Amino acid sequence: MGEKLLSCKEMPIGGVIVNPGNSLEYKTGDWKVLIPKINQDTCIRCRICWYVCPDNAIKELDREYITNKGRKYKISYDVDADFCKGCGMCAQECPVKAIEMVPVEVE
Ligand code: SF4
Ligand code: SF4
Repeated sequence: MGEKLLSCKEMPIGGVIVNPGNSLEYKTGDWKVLIPKINQDTCIRCRICWYVCPDNAIKELDREYITNKGRKYKISYDVDADFCKGCGMCAQECPVKAIEMVPVEVE
């Protein structure tokens, strides 16, 4: 026997989020072909990539970084590969071109 289907009375109403926050359970970034690579030396920590990412896939980390020119930052940015879709908006909007879209490495 197959799985029992829900009747129309048992189904949740369309468009209603019955389990808020469940988008974290769905890794939406597994079909991308390109992924952002952030140059921590060039990045000026403006946060624009974090702001424009439609998938909230740019992570702002409390990770100190000293650039190759000796400038010290208290934060760093990284990409959450589980959710990044490779759209390239972050790279497009970065004012100092610190983000390069590179091919995803297949394991
Ligand atoms: S947009 Fe560019 S400069 Fe700004 S935080 Fe992101 S990587 Fe750094
Ligand atoms: S490529 Fe698109 S989805 Fe991935 S981090 Fe940049 S803006 Fe977000």
